Formats: sequence, C-alpha cells, structure tokens
Amino acid sequence: MKRCLACEHCFESEEWDCPRCRNRPTLCAGLFRFAEDPPIAEGGFKREYFAQLANFEERNFWFRARNRLIQWALGNYFPDAASFFEVGCGTGFVLKGVREASPGLRLAGSEIFGDGLVFARARLPGVDLYQMDARQIPFECEFDVVAAFDVLEHIVEDDAVLRQMFKATKPGGGLLMTVPQHRFLWSAIDEHSMHERRYSRAELRRKVEQAGFRIQRMTSFISLLLPPMIYSRMRSNSSRDFKLWKEFEISRLLNALLGSILTAERAMIERGVSFPAGGSLLLIAKRPATAQ
Ligand SMILES: [Zn+2]
Repeated sequence: MKRCLACEHCFESEEWDCPRCRNRPTLCAGLFRFAEDPPIAEGGFKREYFAQLANFEERNFWFRARNRLIQWALGNYFPDAASFFEVGCGTGFVLKGVREASPGLRLAGSEIFGDGLVFARARLPGVDLYQMDARQIPFECEFDVVAAFDVLEHIVEDDAVLRQMFKATKPGGGLLMTVPQHRFLWSAIDEHSMHERRYSRAELRRKVEQAGFRIQRMTSFISLLLPPMIYSRMRSNSSRDFKLWKEFEISRLLNALLGSILTAERAMIERGVSFPAGGSLLLIAKRPATAQ
C-alpha cells in the first residue's frame, strides 16, 4: 500500500494521488519527489561525493564484495521475495547488482540527495525511484524485503528510520542491512563521511528489535581485513594531509588481492560462520507474519 505523507491515509492504487486529501508527490526527471534536497550545511552526506562514488564502486574490491554478499543474503534468506526496496540507494550500484542477480524482482529505491538519483536513474531504467526522507517512507506493508546499506549511520534518528522501514515491510517479509562496526574504528574517515556513529552489535540488535523485527542472522564482515583496516584508520587519523578516498586509491594488484580475501571470507559466511569482529555488520531480520 501507499501511505500519504500529508494525511497518513493508506491506499492501494497505481497512482500517487491520495484519495482522501488529493496530495501527490511531484514527478520530475523520471522520479517521484517526496522531499527536497537537504540544505548544504546539514549533515548526512556531501552531494559532491556521488560522482566520486560512482567512479570507484564499479571496480573497488569493497563495493564489489559488499554487492556479492548482499546478493547472496537476499537469495538465501528471501528466496521467494517478489519485491525489494532499497532506502538510501545512492548511485544505484547495489540495485543494479541485485537486478543482475535476481532478475525477477520488482525493484524500488529511494535517496534524499537528488545528485545520487541522477546516477541511479541512468543506471536503472524502469526501476521506481523516489527522492525521499528515510524518516518518512510513503509505504505501508508494501515490500517483501526492505534494505539499507551503509545508510543508518548517517542519520541521527536511526530508530525512526527503522520504524518506518518496518512499516514498509510486508508481514512475514524481511530486512537486509549493513552498517559500519566498532566504535574503536572511529576515524577521520567517519567524520569526513558524515557518519553519526559506528555500531556495536548490541546497539544494532537493540534498535532493530525495538522497531519490531526479529533478527535471523548477524555477522561481521571485512573481518579478515580488520588488521590492515585498523592500521589504515590509525594512519588516517595522524595524517595532516587527509584524503577521504585514499583507501580506494590502490593498485589493481592490491585491489585484486583484497577482493580475493573477501571472496574467501564470503564463502565462510555462506557456510554458516558468523564473525564477531570486522569493519562492517551484516544483519538479516524478519517482520513477524502476525502481530503479537
Ligand atoms: Zn492524504
């Protein structure tokens, strides 16, 4: 169902016009706009990052490994899903990978920054894209799987986002999420990435359960690369000449080597190993089929 953000009325319709109050989002350059771009001074993310992101994601080991992990988790835990909604889809790199891995899925994506959606629109013809605030999601019991990958850490009110994601998920449907892990890994990179926090396992568990979800699986990843990551983050803190994208500017050989380590790590996760520590957390949860 769609949910009107003006009057909270929920309705089934192909159109976005609210049957009760006639409110509707604007349709602009192939996207529905429920929210404006945030003011430049406000936190969250910097819009000029999207062009750099789009440049790195296609070939960088970290983005490629995360995509494969997401594709596996989706197919393994939600094999019957027919619809998938990614909150904070950025440039659409994850959705593009999901479309290739699960061609039958109905896909939708949202992003608060219009600059990210320009890339997503070009990458994802035919996919429903929304310019939307994750704290106000215009859906109710609509999607089999709702997802957010490295998004929650950018938002002060992460608990409100999780509650909205819960509402948008069909009863019996699922949640798929990744977030950066470990407060001790906090560095200049987090500050420049406009992160509000890095999560502990306990904090993520508590917030996801408070929103109403039941956790199916939680594992760290980027675990086998944790030692070099700690070294790199400590160096970025002590460096006078900070460059946000420095970790991505590596040789092709090193990129291939790190990629193959993460392939081995993913094989272990697929076999049931849940790592206790790592650069990120993967969480898979379900919305109970019936209200309790
Ligand atoms: Zn309305």
